[in-house]
Amino acid sequence: MIKYNCEKTAQVDVNKLRKGENYMQNNERKEPKILEGCYKSAEHANIVWVCDGAANVGQVGQAVGVLLTNMDKARMCCTTAVGASSKPHLDIAERAKKNIVIDGCENRCASKVLEKAGKKIHYEITISKYLQKVPTLDIYMGNVKKIAQTIMEEAQL
Ligand code: SF4
Repeated sequence: MIKYNCEKTAQVDVNKLRKGENYMQNNERKEPKILEGCYKSAEHANIVWVCDGAANVGQVGQAVGVLLTNMDKARMCCTTAVGASSKPHLDIAERAKKNIVIDGCENRCASKVLEKAGKKIHYEITISKYLQKVPTLDIYMGNVKKIAQTIMEEAQL
């Protein structure tokens, strides 16, 4: 269990956000990374579904999904669209090479969305098993990197 340390929380640089720089992803990249559409890449990609919950664990999960996507280890897709029965997104979950699900806590909301849609989950992780759940949206990038590393090893990405 990673003890949550509020003093180590990532401090958002408001000036960078105002300039449109993507603070959470890569401070060094000048241009946005344009992704192949997830519908096109589903069959040969590991698709990541995150709960994006409103607590540190949900936001760490969201940031892990972004990091894995930008590292070309997987491709994040829209979990809420599956919950809303969007046909293209249901198809993506059906055609994915692997469905990788990242839940913030034991409620397993993203996993339940996939399960209710009848989609296979190839790998899932619950972040609160590794990181104490705290009602804050500020996250520490060190935690994001550790969880991403765990997923890459366990899911063999
Ligand atoms: S799994 Fe937990 S953190 Fe994620 S949306 Fe559900 S209740 Fe929120």
